[in-house]
Amino acid sequence: MSLTESQLDPFAAVYDFTLPAGEPWMHEVKQGQTVRIVDLEGNQAVDTLFYSAADPGERFDANLTLSRQGNIYLTTGSVLLSNEGNPMLTITADTCGRHDTLGGACAAESNTVRYALDKRPMHSCRDNYLAALAEADNGMSKRDLMGNINFFMNVPVTAEGGLTFEDGISAPGKYVELHAEMDVIVLISNCPQLNNPCNAYNPTPAQLLIWD
Ligand SMILES: [Zn+2]
Repeated sequence: MSLTESQLDPFAAVYDFTLPAGEPWMHEVKQGQTVRIVDLEGNQAVDTLFYSAADPGERFDANLTLSRQGNIYLTTGSVLLSNEGNPMLTITADTCGRHDTLGGACAAESNTVRYALDKRPMHSCRDNYLAALAEADNGMSKRDLMGNINFFMNVPVTAEGGLTFEDGISAPGKYVELHAEMDVIVLISNCPQLNNPCNAYNPTPAQLLIWD
């Protein structure tokens, strides 16, 4: 994989926020702006969804994005496409090089299937998404959740076509940067998962920076 550093200066960012471990974040990024997601302490999974700000019915489509680029992994140069086939964001820098699009966001249901029945009430990304949408009070709900990107999460596909959740390959300070090709709503769950080796069973904060 090829890693690409950014030339953008963090001190010139117009927005700089540290998202605590396990918390959601919903924010609009305007066309032409660049957003950077930083894995501050390493091995965090940042579960992310993108919607068109003008029409949230238009949203990130993992299937279309992967089939158009002919690669199941996202990295610098990847163009994130909407369900209408329009470019939403382009990855312009990536110092991690591995981001999952197949594992989905953790939920009460997946916690019981993957781990144990008594994990059901544990805090999950799906709960984070629903809480953020309820807080935004913008008419979006459960029906608006679709396949997400897990930035910094390592879910390799085996030769047999299976999925494995592996120890992360990210490290403190690794980041991914995306240039917005349209006005987008970014919805993040900074994954609270305590049962998965991808975040070393230890959720940690993420930093969000935006440049004009
Ligand atoms: Zn999660």
